[in-house]
Amino acid sequence: MIELPGTYPFAEGLSAVVFLDFDGTLTPVDIGDTLLCRYSNAAELLPAVRAGQLSVLEYYREVCRKLRATPEELAAAACEIGLRPYARELVESCSRHGAGVAILSDGFDAYILPVLRTAGMEHLPIACNLLRWTGSGYEPEFPWAQQRCQLDCPAPSPCAACKRAALLSWAPPSAAVVYVGDGMSDFCPALFADVVFARGELVDWCRSRGIGYIPYGDLFELRQRLEELFRRRRLFQRYLPLRRRQRAWVEE
Ligand SMILES: [Zn+2]
Repeated sequence: MIELPGTYPFAEGLSAVVFLDFDGTLTPVDIGDTLLCRYSNAAELLPAVRAGQLSVLEYYREVCRKLRATPEELAAAACEIGLRPYARELVESCSRHGAGVAILSDGFDAYILPVLRTAGMEHLPIACNLLRWTGSGYEPEFPWAQQRCQLDCPAPSPCAACKRAALLSWAPPSAAVVYVGDGMSDFCPALFADVVFARGELVDWCRSRGIGYIPYGDLFELRQRLEELFRRRRLFQRYLPLRRRQRAWVEE
């Protein structure tokens, strides 16, 4: 379910929450990049985003203006790619251990929702950007964009949907915060998580910043490692990330 700022999607009294990135983490490839390269001019612009010359907001406004596909075509192409194996089992395992699960994405509802619906996972809270179909074109909306992130995002280009903002507003004050991601849009929230599971670019970034992380290969392995943490009661709040969350709560 798409959630907007100001909502709180979890039950009271959770001891842990698990935030999952969508593109490239729950899915085998970045579905957003794939669709926006196929149906718009993303391939031309992505290098500038990665080099820090174009913000994700500006990039999305430009590619959405040139996007040539109907909502049905976007949904069908996204569902053809779908989720990685064990995505659903991962979420079920977290719920069984009493943890809240949410999906944080700097992508769009237009392809995230159809994929989750097909997998029977649309009930999960989702923070992401919105893509409105006007009948002849698209208008992107960025409810999770943060002025603060535009100033101090640790990624080369600031986020559109800032996952740090969603993590901070949804992390219960006394729960352990787990973050799972793989790419540039995960740098911003990773600083605020007690436990980071990382793949791909996020690994290099955590290393360069001296942030502890647990590497994982696929979602089966991720589920196993998480279950081990639940079983051994190794999920708890850690000093530095908790201090960062507390400081951000005071400042924001
Ligand atoms: Zn951000």
